[in-house]
Amino acid sequence: MNIKKIALFGNPVYHSKSPIIHKIFSYITNIPYSYNKINVSNKNFNIIAKNFFDFGGYGANITLPFKKKAFYLCDLLTERAKLSKSVNVITKINNKYLLGDNTDGIGFINDLKRLYIIYKKKKILIIGAGGAARGIIPPLLLYNNNIIITNRTLEKAKKISKEFNNLGNIKYISNKKLFNKKFDIIINATSCSIKNKLPNLFNNIINSNTFCYDMVYSKKNTYFLKWCLRKSKYINDGLGMLISQAAYSFLLWHNKMPSIKLSIEIFKKINYN
Ligand code: NDP
Repeated sequence: MNIKKIALFGNPVYHSKSPIIHKIFSYITNIPYSYNKINVSNKNFNIIAKNFFDFGGYGANITLPFKKKAFYLCDLLTERAKLSKSVNVITKINNKYLLGDNTDGIGFINDLKRLYIIYKKKKILIIGAGGAARGIIPPLLLYNNNIIITNRTLEKAKKISKEFNNLGNIKYISNKKLFNKKFDIIINATSCSIKNKLPNLFNNIINSNTFCYDMVYSKKNTYFLKWCLRKSKYINDGLGMLISQAAYSFLLWHNKMPSIKLSIEIFKKINYN
């Protein structure tokens, strides 16, 4: 049998749970494929990713900080990738062209649905302006949410708010100006949690009803979620999103959708015991 060769490109990738998630998908769907992590330097991403596809690679997931580079590497793009200007999944089609897609947005929305979070017409703060933020902004705007985006490098938040304001209501703000502002949902889309850091924020932006979501998954609550718990009990990490966006990648590569609910259950059994 011809086993599809798939890889995860990023830097760092040592912490990534994606290979375990794809083993679970393979197990529950009975579809064998190889899925390996490849750590690449910033300057080598393009050449290594191209080589991978030239020498038998069929698909790839792209994680930080290469989603923008992957966008420019692809020959063809889906509407979702075009909207977010960021690619987290690549598939080689017709044995020739690299097709870029973005499943972060649909994975995130899917997770909010799983958590029964009402996500229409809400006031949402997004912290971070990297590839992950780009992926989730278009679907959140298409559901008529009001987004405020802030970032350590404010210029990037400004650029994103300009790029996406044709899709809906999005504004940027500096963290200083966030003082006393209130939100229904606060999303940490920075990579702070993987470095055990907190973004610089005032804690009066959270009240007892604020729903706080950290896109990073961690067995223990991340620093950000611990910080949120001081004010609100509604918190969630990025596990459901991680598994959902991976399931939509799987769908692209194998034309079959693995059960997200079952995958989360198996993942927790393997990882939490
Ligand atoms: P990028 O490298 O593209 O962006 C990183 C972002 O984090 C930037 O906005 C950066 O700000 C900010 N940041 C980094 N360090 C700090 C710090 N010390 N203080 C404040 N801000 C900081 O990464 P991605 O956007 O691709 O990913 C972000 C996170 O989301 C990652 O940890 C990733 O694992 C997670 N993620 C989870 C997914 C899931 O399925 N659960 C899916 C996608 C991503 P600046 O611009 O100033 O550098």
